[in-house]
Formats: sequence, structure tokens, C-alpha cells
Amino acid sequence: MPDLSIQEIVTGVNVALGGVCNRGIISQGGNVLVVDSGIAAVEAIPLRAAAQEYRKEGALYLFNTHPHGDHTYGNQVFADCPIIAHEGVRNDLVLNGEQTLANWKQNPRMAAFVSDVTITPPTLTFQEKMTVFVGDIEVQLLYLGIAHSPSDSVAWLPQSRVLFAGDLLFNAIVPATPPGGNTAHWVHALEQLEQLGAAYAIPGHGPVQTPAALADLRHWFITVRALVGEAIASGWDRETTITNVSASLQEIAPRGTEERLPRAIEQVFAEMSQNASV
Ligand SMILES: [Zn+2]
Repeated sequence: MPDLSIQEIVTGVNVALGGVCNRGIISQGGNVLVVDSGIAAVEAIPLRAAAQEYRKEGALYLFNTHPHGDHTYGNQVFADCPIIAHEGVRNDLVLNGEQTLANWKQNPRMAAFVSDVTITPPTLTFQEKMTVFVGDIEVQLLYLGIAHSPSDSVAWLPQSRVLFAGDLLFNAIVPATPPGGNTAHWVHALEQLEQLGAAYAIPGHGPVQTPAALADLRHWFITVRALVGEAIASGWDRETTITNVSASLQEIAPRGTEERLPRAIEQVFAEMSQNASV
């Protein structure tokens, strides 16, 4: 894993790179809000140390954009701070956290990261919106619904127009579509994020690019849904749809991490064939 590196977006607003997911450190006047903790203590300890550099006598908060382990399994390193998230993130970690962690421990790619994780759910929850003032920096935490995960929210800084989009935005790569999300809602969530008029949009994964990446991902999902819709109308089964749509997408809408395409197409196929049968 590469070392933590901090990239300043605007004064007081930093993206923390080098982890499995992109994270953030927002600070002003000795107060700090960290966006997502990372996949394990091994990622969260240097993140906390970087946050402490900005923290003087003020407050330190952690915000979780959504419940997935690569964003919340470092929470234990922030257990002495308020951990803020949508109530769905807490519910997911309380109800499913231990089982999900057990599954991750069975995954050879993940096991080494998560061996010492203690599930640490958020302690301060909201339903639609919460505003945190980090010194003079206004940070709006906005709930966007079930999209990439069962509970997605973002951190929006209206003064600097910086958006920490969590995993609603994957730049330049095929998005992860784990069970529990909904791609139709995800398209709607991206529309809402585009309307914020961000000057900077920080993705949960992938390089930091311009906010045009939001519309780019939305158009990609619309393309996937159109192709899968045609496949279902043609009577193709799931496997044929995955094979053919995957080939089409690589030609007309290529993105990195193409190994995720089958799972993304499978998710859309499940959603759309379920709707078609209602
Ligand atoms: Zn995620």
C-alpha cells in the first residue's frame, strides 16, 4: 500500500491519498473533520496523525460517507471522537458489521488488512442533513439515499464548492456495485450532486478530476442501463447479457478496472429484470 499523501484542494481542505479509498481532512482554527477512516488501523493511524497536525485545542470529528469496510474499518482509531454518519450507516454496522467483517476475513485480498478490525459504528447520526462548522468552514453532510450502498451521503463545502462525494463517484474506473445499492437511484443521486455546482469533486476511488466526472459517470450508468434493457427485451439470460454488454461497454464507454464490469452488469440486470416482472 502506498504511503499517505496529503493534497491541498483549497486552504484548509485536503484530500488524503494513498489508501484503498480517498479520504479527507478539513481543518480551520485548530478544529478538524476527517472524511472516512480507511480500511484498517494501518491506514487510519497515519491519517489520524496527519489530522492531529492540524488540530490544536479544537474539536476532532470523523464522518463516514457510507458503511463499506474500506471507508469505516479504520474507525476504531477515532473511537474517542464523535463519529458522524447517516443513521443507515450506524444501523448497517450494528446489524451486519460482524458478519460482513467475517466475510472480508475469508477474502484472500482483504484478510491481511482486516485481521485486527473492531467494528466501531458512528455515534452521532442524522437523517437528511447535518451541518458541521469546522472553525469557519461550513460542511453540509447530505444524505443521498440508497445508491452505491444502502446509505450514501456526501460532504459539501458551499464556501469553497468542494464536494467529497464518497463512493457515489468513481473517476475513470468502473464503479464498484456491491449488493445493497441501486443503480437507478445512483443516477438520480449523481444528478443531485451535479446541481450543487461543485468546483472540485473528490471521488471515493480513482484520481481526483474535474466535477465533469459526475456527469461522466451518470452517462455511463445510463448507457449500461440502456444496453441491459435492450438485452432483457431481446430475451437474453443473465450470462449472455453480461458477456455481450461487457464487450459493448469496453468498446463504446471504456473505463479502468474492467474486471468489475460483470458484477456491475449483473446488478443492473437484477434490478431491471425484477422491475420487468412486476
Ligand atoms: Zn463503497
